[in-house]
Amino acid sequence: MELTELDHLPAGLLERPASALHHMLNGPTLIHLEGKNPNPLFVTVLQHGNEITGWEAVRRLLKSHYEFDQLPRSLSILIGNTHAAKYRLRRLDDQLDFNRCWPGGKFEDSEVGKMFRQVTDRVRAVNPIAAIDFHNNTGLNPHYAAINRIRPEFLRLASYFSSKVVYFTMPEGTQSLSLSRYCPSTTLECGQAGEVHGTDHCIGFLETCMHLDVIPTTPIDADEVHLFHMVATVRVHDEALFGFGHVPTEIAFRENLDVLNFQELPSGISLGDVNGGPEPPLIATDIDGLDVTKDYFRFDRRQIETVREIMPSMLTLDRRVIQQDCLCYLMERIHFEDHIEVTDHDPLPEGIRRSDRPGEPAL
Ligand SMILES: [Zn+2]
Repeated sequence: MELTELDHLPAGLLERPASALHHMLNGPTLIHLEGKNPNPLFVTVLQHGNEITGWEAVRRLLKSHYEFDQLPRSLSILIGNTHAAKYRLRRLDDQLDFNRCWPGGKFEDSEVGKMFRQVTDRVRAVNPIAAIDFHNNTGLNPHYAAINRIRPEFLRLASYFSSKVVYFTMPEGTQSLSLSRYCPSTTLECGQAGEVHGTDHCIGFLETCMHLDVIPTTPIDADEVHLFHMVATVRVHDEALFGFGHVPTEIAFRENLDVLNFQELPSGISLGDVNGGPEPPLIATDIDGLDVTKDYFRFDRRQIETVREIMPSMLTLDRRVIQQDCLCYLMERIHFEDHIEVTDHDPLPEGIRRSDRPGEPAL
């Protein structure tokens, strides 16, 4: 797989929605645009072909503000999987997931991996102020940023997008994790693809980054950023029959279950009714795959009740996702103010390991 590198926008590119980029771009393309401040922002869109918000934001930003004007700072744009975007798919069946192929991941020696090594070398050479990777997800999740290092400038960069920030170090081979060695980097989860307010939000964020002098490295207040990490994956019992709302089934989840995403729930909250069926109806496993169901839930009152403070994410009403993947992840707050990383080798907060792997977020 060849990387195409350009120093200009091909005429007409900004007119193309993600699904039509393949007419002009034959695969991954790195475009460098010059601006007043030569220290560029590095932005990646469409690593997943159906996650179009980043491209919508970039093309609208460039069209409305900068088509006839100089950019406030240089901008390097990587347009990722144009072939998958053509079919509005995350990736094609015969392709690797692009956002698992960056240096440091297990696919770094693949063809895509070698290409991203090339991109990484180019990006390091231009020394960007930050690296931003745009994604979308399914279900009703708030917009949030994910970071891979607990450092003030990473938290600050994330805070320009959302006060909700997730820390992760798995899966490996993601762009933000890989580039976090060289510059502040973040993965932005911009809600569901195709939502106009998602594009608007991303444009606002990009405008902020385009006008920054530097990303401050001064400490950030604990109330500006709420930092979480995953502690458990929750699955529905394989044999259990389940539904949503007032349905006569073994597990009747509350109708609008996904409004609980990214809500810090106290103990005693009910996620739904239990009307018999296999026990336990839900199974929570921790990062080592150990069953920790009892730490989070009780079922003895014909309800799925929380027994401690938790914050679910990725709760979905999609039966296929629930059956094939999981019901949700459970997150806990990291009190980062006590744990800011100063060197590369600082210990992580207690209870958090670099090998944390409660399940892989669909970044
Ligand atoms: Zn994605």
